[in-house]
Amino acid sequence: MVTRFAPSPTGRLHIGHGWSALMAMDMARAAGGAFRLRIEDIDAARSRPEHVAGIVEDLQWLGVAWDGEIVFQSERLGQYDAALERLRQMGLLYPCFCTRADIQAQWTASASAPHGPEGAVYPGMCRALTESERARRIAAGEPHAWRIDMAMAAAKAGPLRWTALPFPPGDGPGRDIPAEPLAAGDVVLARKDAPASYHLSCTLDDAAMGVTHVLRGDDLFAATHVHRVIQALLGLPAPAYVHHPLLAGTDGKRLAKRSGSIGLADLRAEGADPAQLAGDLRAGRFPVGISLERA
Ligand code: GLU
Repeated sequence: MVTRFAPSPTGRLHIGHGWSALMAMDMARAAGGAFRLRIEDIDAARSRPEHVAGIVEDLQWLGVAWDGEIVFQSERLGQYDAALERLRQMGLLYPCFCTRADIQAQWTASASAPHGPEGAVYPGMCRALTESERARRIAAGEPHAWRIDMAMAAAKAGPLRWTALPFPPGDGPGRDIPAEPLAAGDVVLARKDAPASYHLSCTLDDAAMGVTHVLRGDDLFAATHVHRVIQALLGLPAPAYVHHPLLAGTDGKRLAKRSGSIGLADLRAEGADPAQLAGDLRAGRFPVGISLERA
């Protein structure tokens, strides 16, 4: 068994991250497997080296210990490029020149914008462009993302399933879930401002790191349907998935990477005992006012 924790260095970690990392580590250790750490730093505008150092410090303080070297996505751009090229050769990607405003305008104009689990999906304007129009706009240097034609991709991949293991980990048998990627629409695989998207880099890296069991938040449940299709198209193995509830604060709102007494660094500064905190998190005892987000 290989599990992993994969934070984006856009801020310091809060106790929800610490809880998730501990669960992933414990799951691997209980099975005599390995636990890996990956820093998801392809978003150059939002990732900061000081947050990487802060995340490492927060995890070490809490007693989270990973096996092997830390994997940095910013060092794997060549792999993402190669996968994009393969998908492009398969005719499954198209350049998208739309700005956020273009997409918003289209949503506003259409009475019934199709909605996926993540909200309104891309309305598909650039899917309709001709090859010559695409070539002309690329040659003119127009900024563009690359989207996957999901209907075509799903048809090519054929029917797929993935395994959802129960939360808490180890609690009973898994469920076999039919992949339903169409609901997500034509998601972006390479962003205008980054050489890959989360969907592509995460899927490729889990495979490259030999991850067999992905433990992550419920907020990424919908993403798993998309990842399953990418795995099938690129001939990658499919890990099993545990999606855990997220933590909410006193206001009922999901914890975010912002400063506050729930940050691991803040708790440390307040003199919290990390061994006790780790024990509490493992037992599902959260600081006053923090609870599992209701589904
Ligand atoms: N980097 C993602 C985040 O910080 C998590 C990715 C994953 O676990 O698949 O939300």
